[in-house]
Amino acid sequence: MSTLEIRDLQVSVKLPDGELKPILAGVDLTIKSGETHAIMGPNGSGKSTLAYSIAGHPKYEITGGSVTLDGQDILELSVDERARAGLFLAMQYPVEVPGVSVANFLRTAKTAIDGEAPKLRTWAGELRGAMEKLQMDPAFAQRNVNEGFSGGEKKRHEIMQLELLKPKMAILDETDSGLDIDALQIVSEGVNRVRETGETGFLLITHYTRILRYIKPDFVHVFVGGRIVEEGGPELGEQLEAEGYKKFLVKA
Ligand code: ADP
Ligand code: MG
Ligand code: MG
Repeated sequence: MSTLEIRDLQVSVKLPDGELKPILAGVDLTIKSGETHAIMGPNGSGKSTLAYSIAGHPKYEITGGSVTLDGQDILELSVDERARAGLFLAMQYPVEVPGVSVANFLRTAKTAIDGEAPKLRTWAGELRGAMEKLQMDPAFAQRNVNEGFSGGEKKRHEIMQLELLKPKMAILDETDSGLDIDALQIVSEGVNRVRETGETGFLLITHYTRILRYIKPDFVHVFVGGRIVEEGGPELGEQLEAEGYKKFLVKA
């Protein structure tokens, strides 16, 4: 059982002229393994800033508060150490990794996170199995990471990582953007499979309620103006789908 605790997190973005622009205005959130939390908010409300701050992106400066995973201060760790501690962040705009195949990338990541290389005999089968479940062509494993990937392929690659790396906490930022309905279903099923293990906690970030039809969150948090302004269960997601963010904007 793992717990990610975000306490009064305040974050500014570093502008090119060196100035700090405050974005997160005190975020409180606790996620336990096995739980799925959705953060929903309009564009520009700071959702990606929250994800990048937890991941350790250098563009963001933590000006207050704390983030711990099972009591360990995450904000003190390097990006690699955060991954080894069990954090997984699917980037909203995944980067290309020139010259590195999907198969090698996944094996290297698995080795880094587990502290030892996966057993060759079982690993090949695990990789094949993860790809089959996501209905991916086996040839995909030999392609270079994110090079020429379609939107759907990028998302499937993220979910493959999730299934193979088995993180303690997974933060998925706009995983639904750019997916057609078939790909959305396949990706959602992948998330739900990992979820059923009960060993991973999920933070699902979206401005769009569509994905919540496929992945039913246990908790919904409305995010406006750099903070959580309302919390509830799945019914809050349904309310947002019907009514939009209008009534929450005045609270920001
Ligand atoms: P969301 O993911 O909810 O759409 P973001 O976290 O991407 O929101 O952005 C939150 C706010 O921070 C926005 O007003 C955005 O313009 C601003 N912001 C983010 N990154 C930068 C940056 N590099 N320079 C200036 N403003 C930024
Ligand atoms: Mg945005
Ligand atoms: Mg965003």
